[in-house]
Amino acid sequence: MDLFQYKNGVLYCEDIPVNSLPEKGLPTPFYLYSANTLRQHYKKIYSIFEKLQPMICFSVKSSNNVHLLNELAALGAGMDIVSGGELFVVKQSNADLSKVVFAGVGKSDEEITDAIVSEVGFINIESEQELARVQELAGELKREVNVLIRILPDVLDEKTNEKTRTGHKGAKFGIDYAHVEALIEENADHPYVKIRGLHSHIGSPISSYTFYVAAIQKMVELVEHLKRKNIRLDVLNIGGGFPANYMDNDNFSWESFAGPITELLEPYVKNEGFKIILEPGRSISANTGIMVTKVLYVKQSGDKHIVILDGGMTELIRPAMYNAFHFIWPVKPQPEHVLANRNYPVQQEGLITYDVVGPICESSDYLAKERPLPALRQGDYIAVFTVGAYGMVMASNYNLHVRPAEIMIDKDKIYIIRERETQEDLVRTMIKHEL
Ligand SMILES: *Cc1c(COP(=O)(O)O)cnc(C)c1O
Repeated sequence: MDLFQYKNGVLYCEDIPVNSLPEKGLPTPFYLYSANTLRQHYKKIYSIFEKLQPMICFSVKSSNNVHLLNELAALGAGMDIVSGGELFVVKQSNADLSKVVFAGVGKSDEEITDAIVSEVGFINIESEQELARVQELAGELKREVNVLIRILPDVLDEKTNEKTRTGHKGAKFGIDYAHVEALIEENADHPYVKIRGLHSHIGSPISSYTFYVAAIQKMVELVEHLKRKNIRLDVLNIGGGFPANYMDNDNFSWESFAGPITELLEPYVKNEGFKIILEPGRSISANTGIMVTKVLYVKQSGDKHIVILDGGMTELIRPAMYNAFHFIWPVKPQPEHVLANRNYPVQQEGLITYDVVGPICESSDYLAKERPLPALRQGDYIAVFTVGAYGMVMASNYNLHVRPAEIMIDKDKIYIIRERETQEDLVRTMIKHEL
C-alpha cells in the first residue's frame, strides 16, 4: 500500500496535494517520493521474514538518493551495492558499512580495494578470477575481508523480462554451480579472504516463490556437501527481485513468498546460527515514487490520439527499455474520473485511448501505448506511478535535457532532496585540454 491516494478530487502524496507543487512554481517533470511509504515497505519486508532475523540490504541501484538511503539506514537497513560510486554514496549516508554487500560481475581493482579498506560486510564474488584478484589485493593490503560466492543456480523464471534475468545457465552473473564446491574447497584457508557463505540473485522481478526455493535448495545442498568435508559456511544471501505493485496500489502478497522461503531457511538460522541476507530493491522502493509531468500538447496522428508530455525516456526509460507498464493518471482529473483505487484497467466510461509520449526525438520515447485515460488538455499535470525503483537512477541527459529534481514528502513536510540540473551542468565536464 502506498501513500499516493486521491482525496478531495486530487492526488495526494501523504498530506500534500501533488498539484500544489507545480502550482508553487516547481518545474516539471520531477520525481516525488513518500518517506512513509519507504519506511512502511522496509518494515513490512522485515516483518514477513522476521523469523529469519534477516539482514536487509537495500538494493541501492534501484533508488540511490542519499536522503532516501538515510531513511532506510535509520531503520537499521544495510545496503546492497554494485559499484564504487554506490559505495561512495552509501558512505555519505548513515548506513553501517558492516551491513554492506558488494555485488557485480566487473569490479575494478580500485573498487575492490575501496571495499576492503572500507570494511564492507561482504564482497559477493562472481568469478574465479575475481576471487583470485580479491585474494591478491587483500594480501597486499594485509586486510581481512569476508566474501560470499555468488552461485549461478540455473533457475529461470520465464515471466521475468529477458533483460533482467540473472539466474539461468549461460548468464554473465555468478559462478557456474558445478564449479562452486571445488572453488570453495580450494580457497577455504586463505589468510585474508574468508569465504563465509553463498549468494544468489535470480532476476527481477520474480513471479513466484518457487524460483527462490529452487535456488535456495541448491545453496543448501552445497552447504551440506561442504559440511561433510569440514568446511563450515554461515551466511546465505538469497538476493532481491521481490515484485512491486505496478498495476494497482493493493498490497502485493509478499507473505506468499516469505512462508516457503522461511521454512527452508529457518533450521539453518535456529540450529546452526546462519545469517540470512536479503537484497530487496523494487519491492521497497518502486511504490515510493511518482513522476509528475505536464501535458505540453495533444494531437491526432491518423486515428491515434497522442499526448505529448514534458517528461519521457530521459526521466523514465523503463517503458522504452523493458516495455514496462506504469499506471498513469491525471493529478487532478475531472470529478467523474477521480479514482477511488488505482487498478488497471480502469473501469470508467468516457475514456480516450492515448499514446503517451515524451519530447525526445526518438520513437522509443513513450510512457504508455494505447492507454485509456480521461480527456487530457494542455497544462494538465500527469502522475506516472511506481517509478521509485529504476526511475531517476536511470535518467539521462539525452537530447541535452537536464535531469529532474527529486522531492521527498514526509507527512506535511516537503523536502527538495536533489536539485534539478541546470544547463551549466550540461557542459561542466566538457573541458578541453591537451593530454
Ligand atoms: C538488482 C539487484 C537486486 C535488487 O533487485 P530488485 O528486483 O530491485 O529487488 C538485488 N541483488 C542484486 C545482486 C542485484 O543486482
